[in-house]
Amino acid sequence: MSVVDPVANLQALIRCPSVTPAEGGALTALEAMLQPLGFTVERMVASEAGMPDIENLYARIGTDGPHLMFAGHTDVVPPGDEASWSHPPFAAEIADGELFGRGAVDMKGGIACFVAAVARHIEQHGAPKGSISFLITGDEEGPAVNGTTKLLKWAAEKGERWDACLVGEPTNPDALGDMIKIGRRGSVSGKVVVHGVQGHAAYPHLADNAVRGALSLASSLMDPPFDAGTPEFPASNLEVTTLDVGNPATNVVPEKATFAFNIRFNDTWTADTVKAEILRRLDAAAATNPLRPGRDATRYEITWADRPSHVFLTRNDALIGSLAASVKEITGKEPKLSTTGGTSDARFIKDYCPVVEFGLVGQTMHMVDERVAVADLETLTRIYGDFITRWFADAVIH
Ligand SMILES: [Zn+2]
Repeated sequence: MSVVDPVANLQALIRCPSVTPAEGGALTALEAMLQPLGFTVERMVASEAGMPDIENLYARIGTDGPHLMFAGHTDVVPPGDEASWSHPPFAAEIADGELFGRGAVDMKGGIACFVAAVARHIEQHGAPKGSISFLITGDEEGPAVNGTTKLLKWAAEKGERWDACLVGEPTNPDALGDMIKIGRRGSVSGKVVVHGVQGHAAYPHLADNAVRGALSLASSLMDPPFDAGTPEFPASNLEVTTLDVGNPATNVVPEKATFAFNIRFNDTWTADTVKAEILRRLDAAAATNPLRPGRDATRYEITWADRPSHVFLTRNDALIGSLAASVKEITGKEPKLSTTGGTSDARFIKDYCPVVEFGLVGQTMHMVDERVAVADLETLTRIYGDFITRWFADAVIH
C-alpha cells in the first residue's frame, strides 16, 4: 500500500472496527503505515482501576528540533443500528465521490491525510528538518482517562518536548477551509439539592416547599449573563439541564428538589473563579429568597462534577500563521479563527506546547452514514503538506 494516498489510508483505518475502548487493529494499521517511512513507533497501554486498558501510539521521525506533533484518535463512536447505514459502517465503500464509514471525518480521515502529507514531504524533500511525531490515542470518544493525558505525561517523562501541535479533529462547519480552532471554552457541571420541610398541601404554613428555593437558585444562575464575551470568545453561558422533584402525590409539599447545570465559559474566567461566582449567586439567592416569606435562608448543598475542562487560547504566530497561510494557498479561503464548539483533547495538549485544530468537515460526525468527500481528502492532504513545509521554514527562522 502506498501511504501517499489518503483514500487508501482511510479505507485501511475504517476497516478496523475500533469502537472505544477496542483497538480494533487501527493502531496496528497506522504503525504499518508509519514504520516504512522511518518513524520509530511505540505502543503505550494505559490502565486505570475499574476501566478497560487502552492502547495508544506514539511515533517520531527525527531527533532534533523543531518538533511538530500531530495529535488525534483512532477510536470511534458506535455505529448504532447498522441496518440504518446505506453502506456498512466498517466497509469504507465509495459511492458518488463519497467515502462512507464510522470515523471517516471524526477522525480517521484527518490521520489518513496527515500520514499521506508526511509521506509526500519525505518523498519530495527527504526527512524533515527537525522532528515530526504522531500522538494517537484510543480513548478520546470514551472517558478520556487512559488516553491523551497519560500519553503526553508518559512521553514527556521520556524527555519528549514539542514546539507546536496540530490536532486533526473535524473543525470545518460547511466546507474545507472554513475554520481553524485556536482555543476552546472551559466547561464546569454541578448539581444542587435544595432542602425544605415536607407537609400537607392544605397546611402550607407547617411546610416549606423546596421547589420555591430550587426555582430561585436556578434562575439566579441563568440570569444575568456571566459576561458579554471577548474578542476571541462568545459569552459564557450556563444552562440548567434538569430540575427534579419526583413527587407522585398532589397533596404533599415536597421537602427536596434537585437541579443540575453546565456552564461553558470563556477566558474571562478560570474553572475556580467561575465556581466561586456560581457559589456567590447561589448564596445571594438563598439569603434573599427564603422558601417562604419570613423564614430562614434556603438550605442547599452543591456537588461539582469531576474534572472540569479548562479554557485555553493559543497565541502563536508561527503555528496559526503557517496553517492559515496553507489553508489560503490551497483553498483560496481565509479561515475563521474560532473557539466555538465542545471540548477536545487540545485542552490537555495546551499544557505542553501551543496547539491548534484543523481537519475535515464535521457535518456527519457521530451520525449514521458518516462520510467524507473523496476530493476533500486530497485537499486536506495538500493543506497539511503545505503546512509542514511552511512551519519548518518558519520555525527554523525564529
Ligand atoms: Zn474526534
